[in-house]
Amino acid sequence: MITVTRPYFPERQNFDRYVDAIFERRWLTNHGPLEQELTKRLETYLGVKNLLLVSNGTLALQIAYRALGIARMPGLYEPAEVITTPFTFIATASSLKWEGMQPVFTDIDPATLCLDPANIDAAITPRTRAIAPVHVFGNACDVEAIDALGEARGLKVIYDGAHAFGATYRGRSLLSYGDASTLSFHATKLFHSIEGGAIIFKRKEDLERARKMINFGITGPECIEELGINAKMNEFQAAMGLCVLDEIEVNLESRALVWHAYAQALRGNVQLQTRRIGASLNYAYFPVILESESVLLDVMQRLEQEGFMARRYFCPSLESLAFLGRPAAEHQEEDFSTPRIFHSKDIASRILCLPLYAGLEVSEILAAVRIVVDRHVKAA
Ligand SMILES: *Cc1c(COP(=O)(O)O)cnc(C)c1O
Repeated sequence: MITVTRPYFPERQNFDRYVDAIFERRWLTNHGPLEQELTKRLETYLGVKNLLLVSNGTLALQIAYRALGIARMPGLYEPAEVITTPFTFIATASSLKWEGMQPVFTDIDPATLCLDPANIDAAITPRTRAIAPVHVFGNACDVEAIDALGEARGLKVIYDGAHAFGATYRGRSLLSYGDASTLSFHATKLFHSIEGGAIIFKRKEDLERARKMINFGITGPECIEELGINAKMNEFQAAMGLCVLDEIEVNLESRALVWHAYAQALRGNVQLQTRRIGASLNYAYFPVILESESVLLDVMQRLEQEGFMARRYFCPSLESLAFLGRPAAEHQEEDFSTPRIFHSKDIASRILCLPLYAGLEVSEILAAVRIVVDRHVKAA
């Protein structure tokens, strides 16, 4: 079975060398030498400053909200509101709710699939504290418009960059926009450390606050400075990260071959995500937008018969999840699918991510390409 993604396994010998060193040093976690080395190497590779490694991409979001001071809203009983996209992985919005904030969904641009800045302004209330957009499938959000809006309205901007590893925009790291950007290094992501994540802060003082927070707020042997949690990356995670980073070019080249083969065969036959001008390609995902949900279900079934597991990223559109809605409304059996959300709902119902990972051969995907193109011709 060809799955939608497959974790990247680096050279065993390289990993063993790092593990041997861990056993010699007997240092397993708490800001160890491999965690420090990975921090430096990622800053260089990504072209960013103020990078903090954490134990996963969801905690990266939670810590970023906390470090930027948006999670708590002094003097107000109602939760702070954060404007975000409904077309994303659940963690973008659930991490807000988990931190006691209210995600407020505004619609996406149906071409780029990222939050449409034109919809943000109307959603701002006196309780709005931040904007949390997503560089979905590694495409660049309209970072200029969103950063400018955040600045003008006094809102923090936190980009969920879980799909944007290595992505650049107009020659600069896409992760250097906003007050903070987060990454996920989960096993299924383009770059991984088994589990893991990172936050890239604009300001050094926010990085320093976050660094204390991820170790219980402890700053010295008998000093607990503030409320914290445990979000540290351990040495085995860092070792895997270093090995995967050593082979990142091979990984990207292999993905690029498949990505371009899909693009060449499908462009003109099926709707693809429109990449923003100036946005690089990182070959993280290959989504296709079909004519309707029934076409999608048919294509999925036929793919499965041929041994392909495509996945419906991202479905459902998150505004439909009642547990993310306002507590008061939960009891009113209110329909959360606000009429403001149209494109996200529509796209979520008919988008499919095709198998893409390093090591997948172009010859292996040809049957999948044929099924998608064939179904399109029939529907037309
Ligand atoms: C994977 C992902 C996350 C969560 O990352 P974890 O490391 O799995 O906790 C958050 N946001 C998006 C958009 C993701 O794809």
